[in-house]
Amino acid sequence: MSPLDPGGYDRVVVAFSGGKDSLAALLHLLDLGVRIERIELHHHEVDGPSDTYMDWPITPAYVAAVAAHLGLPLYRSWREGGFRREMDRDGTPTAPVLFDTPDGRLGRAGGAGPAGVRGRFPQVSADLSVRWCSPALKIDVLAAAIRGQARFETGCTLVVTGERAEESPARARYRPFERHRTSCGRRTVDHWRPLLAWNEASVWARIGAAALRPHPAYSLGWSRLSCRCCIFGSPAQWATIRALYPAAFAVIADREARTGRTIQHRASVVALADRALPYPAALAQLELAAMAAGREWTLPVIEPNWSLPAGAFGEAAGPT
Ligand code: SF4
Repeated sequence: MSPLDPGGYDRVVVAFSGGKDSLAALLHLLDLGVRIERIELHHHEVDGPSDTYMDWPITPAYVAAVAAHLGLPLYRSWREGGFRREMDRDGTPTAPVLFDTPDGRLGRAGGAGPAGVRGRFPQVSADLSVRWCSPALKIDVLAAAIRGQARFETGCTLVVTGERAEESPARARYRPFERHRTSCGRRTVDHWRPLLAWNEASVWARIGAAALRPHPAYSLGWSRLSCRCCIFGSPAQWATIRALYPAAFAVIADREARTGRTIQHRASVVALADRALPYPAALAQLELAAMAAGREWTLPVIEPNWSLPAGAFGEAAGPT
């Protein structure tokens, strides 16, 4: 099997964050003629379904709206207790992973690993051994969902993710196609990054051609969809969070002050926010900003008068 024939796989798992790149990757699969009944979207909830510590609260609802519009199944997965529990680990194992299954039940995997201690935010680094949020809350979560379901032991699976080389030198070194980490003797899983050579203009052009409304973070001024309080946040992003979402900002700022451990090496989030002004687009769209802080998606997914969101081609703060 090869990425030249993605439609030849029995199933295509799209790691769907709700960001522009995973959306463009999905549209690209449809362009290539991959049959819709072979595609499934997987979304990892960084905070889990009952917390809103780091991520945009609206993201799960936006992802669900896009999936429903395209007629695609959506499977959620998360680490129990999300970001907060993982960061507060103190002599306990990493929590189990929970995942939706096609029969509507929740699967469960892991949770019996060695005890460990975290107690601090992930480091702002391309090295995933110290930037623990990406593996613990996303990459390992998808792997657990695949390993935890016997259905993936039948036929061949293609995992599609939307990283682009343009995003960082680390991502530029990724392979476009390789065996997925879950592939083994009884399971055939490949990993394809179809957008690795795409630039941002191509991504927006494809989404615009479909007239699909992007995640509201882009309209508010963010150029990448990361967690709302992503550890890579820029001064302008922290200033915007402080202005629009003071409670969410205070949770992070208070923890930094209480523990003396800041997310970024040389500055607290308060100091970062003091260095910049909030995104003007966010201040001008308070209604949209409020919706992004909620859990209910209330807008049409199709936008007939589609235009580039304010955050397009903006500062590229986000995971490297
Ligand atoms: S978006 Fe940022 S904070 Fe969220 S998991 Fe990724 S690197 Fe960590």
